[in-house]
Amino acid sequence: AESVAPEAQEVPENPLAAYKDVYVVSDILEDKIQPVTIELIGQARILADQLGERVQVMLLGEHVQNQAQELIYYGADIVHVFESQLLKDYTTDGYTKVLADYLLVHKPNVLLIGATNNGRDLAPRMSGRMQNGVVADCTILSVDTKEGLVEWTRPALGGNILAEIISPNHRPQMGSVRPNVFKKPELDTSRTGEVIVEPFELAETDIRTKRLNFIPFSLEGYNLEDAEIIVAGGRGMGNKENFDRLYELADALGGVVGATRPLVEKGWIDLKYQIGQTGKTISPKLYLAFGISGAIQHVSGIGGAETIIAINNDPEAQIFQYSNYGIVGDVMTVLEEMLAQAKGK
Ligand code: FAD
Repeated sequence: AESVAPEAQEVPENPLAAYKDVYVVSDILEDKIQPVTIELIGQARILADQLGERVQVMLLGEHVQNQAQELIYYGADIVHVFESQLLKDYTTDGYTKVLADYLLVHKPNVLLIGATNNGRDLAPRMSGRMQNGVVADCTILSVDTKEGLVEWTRPALGGNILAEIISPNHRPQMGSVRPNVFKKPELDTSRTGEVIVEPFELAETDIRTKRLNFIPFSLEGYNLEDAEIIVAGGRGMGNKENFDRLYELADALGGVVGATRPLVEKGWIDLKYQIGQTGKTISPKLYLAFGISGAIQHVSGIGGAETIIAINNDPEAQIFQYSNYGIVGDVMTVLEEMLAQAKGK
């Protein structure tokens, strides 16, 4: 039998080592970059700095090149621009083809997709193309610096636990990340980077769907996700009449009203104003929680709030654990007092 001298033996290279950098897929609506893209670039920057890697953005659309430089100011190192009239609207086929053609060759270490309606459609399709898993709907991202792996945290089992998930054996490490969970990074116009207009192949016949019309989700009412001040009520409000008085406080403070799920189920307020796991994820400057217990399914939607003030007559209520300030007392007594103060009486 032939023997091979030890020095001639090649150490097999780790195939995962070929995968580099943190990539963000842009989320575009009507040629406008959606806020989640900027939030993800901020997170990608933090992850990339810890991993010693770069942030690369995949920017797809019809007229988007003029927005590429801004993404560098927000923290990207390289922006790859893919422009075509066929990419004007999101389509599963068009986006998947362009992204997979590029990323199967260029091998990202980490791939972040916004968990918007489009992103929730795209992420599993990309996972199929990349022959890989995807961690859906993450709310916390961090790096295990010892292993060099991203730790993805997401609510699981009906929101009863927060699951930490790692992907040790496959690349790219892929996940979709909820909008409004992460703060938008600061714009730094002194940052420099590279904008590359990429050649690519995409034919009309690659796309099996056609957009006929675009109807925004709701033209009426207000958008909780954009609100800076939210006054929210829970079952502790007692009855609808009491609950409706929260609108007075919201008006006086220049804010809007939100609620927990039981109040939506009672029909006191529309589903689009429900906050939490099966409702909206919010990031106001101020969140006032009246008579809300602080169930995990509710608080998983309020982590982005800057200041949380909770009012509850139970000093042991869980909501106090998530609050910056807590008032132990009856909701209506505190509400009357706040109304008097806010109206300057
Ligand atoms: P309660 O838990 O009943 O709390 C009422 C609070 O008011 C108590 O803490 C009480 O001490 C206090 N209180 C009572 N009277 C007064 C008073 N006079 N003055 C002051 N305080 C008073 N919930 C959501 O909100 N959003 C979601 O998206 C959501 N998704 C869910 C998804 C799943 C799969 C499941 C299983 C549940 C979900 N829930 C969601 C429901 C969630 O588990 C809780 O049941 C809900 O958040 C509780 O709402 P609450 O805090 O209004 O009511």
